[in-house]
Amino acid sequence: MLFSNINGINKKKIVLFPHNNPDGDALGSSLALLFYFRKLKHDVDLISPTEYPESFQWLPGTEDILVFSKHTESLVKKKIVNSDYIFFIDFNNFSRINKIKNLILCSKAKKILIDHHPYPFCFDFMFSDPTVAATSILVFRFISDMNNLDKIDKKIATCLYVGLMTDTGFFRFPSVTSETHFIAGKLIEKGIDINSIYDHLQEKYNENRLKLLSKALKKLKIIKKYRTAYTSIKSSDINFDSYKPEDKEGIITYGLGIKNIVFSVLFFEEKEKFPIKISFRSKGNFDVNMFARKHFRGGGHRNAAGGTSEKNLYESIKYFLNIIPYYYKPLMFSI
Ligand code: 5GP
Repeated sequence: MLFSNINGINKKKIVLFPHNNPDGDALGSSLALLFYFRKLKHDVDLISPTEYPESFQWLPGTEDILVFSKHTESLVKKKIVNSDYIFFIDFNNFSRINKIKNLILCSKAKKILIDHHPYPFCFDFMFSDPTVAATSILVFRFISDMNNLDKIDKKIATCLYVGLMTDTGFFRFPSVTSETHFIAGKLIEKGIDINSIYDHLQEKYNENRLKLLSKALKKLKIIKKYRTAYTSIKSSDINFDSYKPEDKEGIITYGLGIKNIVFSVLFFEEKEKFPIKISFRSKGNFDVNMFARKHFRGGGHRNAAGGTSEKNLYESIKYFLNIIPYYYKPLMFSI
């Protein structure tokens, strides 16, 4: 029914939403769908709930992204109200588009999820598979299920490949399977420039990012007994005049680079306000998604998750340190 409507001759009004501060997979998947639906001659808008990282500005189609803000609120509202279909891409929980949640919930449009996070909310149509490495795999499957693989051109392939690369840590994470490589191969056949994509995605350090990293590394604590590393960033560590959310990207992975450490945690205090944002990363079978859900109202994937704490930074860390002994066995035996 959905496929025949979208593949049909009637023009539909479609709105695509990635999550707040969209990453390479959310943005790549959304842009790929933007180009794809345009090819099917639909009227389609891509709305980002917040600014997207500058580092992705090179992606084709970013000039067409409508960023939600006070200035665009009434336009966004109009587009949502008039839409036939709203796609939610790379998230499964409305808390990740908090600013526009209420606008969306009022809309009568059919709501469609394309996402790889576990425990999704219920939508009208769900393309959800937590076993895959990236949402862009599900977008590829979605296009394939509609028998439209021939519609994937170089631009769509580039966007999907960025999703694959960023959510698999450049094809390194355990979630990578033969399907991931099969799809990568199909995208390469569309003529994408993998060297140039790699060059754009390579870790780029600006002054802010390095300063933040050095502050976080100075505070890095190791708890050998629990194979855990944690650190924190205080609002006073941040120069908010020039700070961008992507400046903290990658800081958390340093803890995991230490021999025998399987659990890395970053506490982040933004502008002395609550909640404190917490990122979790793990190696092996220690499930940070469960940990984040149980203790920090969060979620994510088995090896990468996030959450929040209403306590102040000091109390949040104290709470974490009180919990961690209960995980002695899973941390000790994580392989
Ligand atoms: P990060 O630590 O990079 O912010 O997030 C890692 C992953 O955890 C994200 O891809 C996302 O899936 C998930 N995540 C981060 N923060 C939250 C949160 O507050 N709630 C939920 N449900 N998931 C989160």
